[in-house]
Amino acid sequence: MDQLELLVDLHLKNPRQGPGGEEDTLKALQLIDLSGIQNPKLADVGCGSGGQSITLAKNTNAQITAVDIFPVFLTELEKRATEAEVQDQIKTIGADMADLPFGNNEFDVIWSEGAIYNLGFERGLSLWKPFLKPGGYIALSEIIWITATRPKEIHEFWTNDYPEISSAEEKIKVLQDAGYEYMDHFILPASSWVDHYYKPLADSYESFLKRHQYSEAAQQVVQEHQSEYELFQRFGEYYSYGFFIAKKLHTIGVK
Ligand code: SAH
Repeated sequence: MDQLELLVDLHLKNPRQGPGGEEDTLKALQLIDLSGIQNPKLADVGCGSGGQSITLAKNTNAQITAVDIFPVFLTELEKRATEAEVQDQIKTIGADMADLPFGNNEFDVIWSEGAIYNLGFERGLSLWKPFLKPGGYIALSEIIWITATRPKEIHEFWTNDYPEISSAEEKIKVLQDAGYEYMDHFILPASSWVDHYYKPLADSYESFLKRHQYSEAAQQVVQEHQSEYELFQRFGEYYSYGFFIAKKLHTIGVK
């Protein structure tokens, strides 16, 4: 198994593949008004094993297209959707979020939790915009700094890992510059990182290592996740995910 396959295997059975939980998905959903739309169409991009897709299916009448680049996540999602009896509402597509097989103005909502960083916030906003109906919503979670200043160690770690990390105000400006009307945002609580993500992940290390005969590569994958969790324990008051809601602006035709 190469490193990517190991990563997928480590995350596959966990409730979420990134920080976030049912309460956060529901809170974001409350900021969106789907009441006037008969059969809303929602794309869940970078869905992973579908934690949020299933919450969205249970709490809306939307038809959900769940997209991920790794088919094993989609198989797991389908299994969980069937268990939750929402399989009829969710269709899965294996695709690269940089090259989505969607039509113009296809969706009422584009949802993406903990995944747009794979493209970069700005690039994702611009690549996905055509697929959204004018007036349609985008709901995204993205890592942000939550204090004005922070220790050098954590600043350097995240800036190296993800140079686009910035404050919520800066993210809002990026949204607006990309042609969206900013609606609202909130910050994920630490529990969304720890209880729904890091703890279940840590509980799965032993069986993961066993499955891979304690190979060096498997140990390295665990080590990297452990260090990230330790950083969160030390510096979690300085960063989190922001959950941003915006609308695609209606554009006036220009000749
Ligand atoms: N939304 C889920 C998963 C977040 S992790 C949750 O919050 O639990 C990020 C997800 O993006 C992973 O499932 C990963 O497989 C997917 N991903 C990474 N690069 C991708 C790409 N280029 N195209 C589509 N999906 C991608």
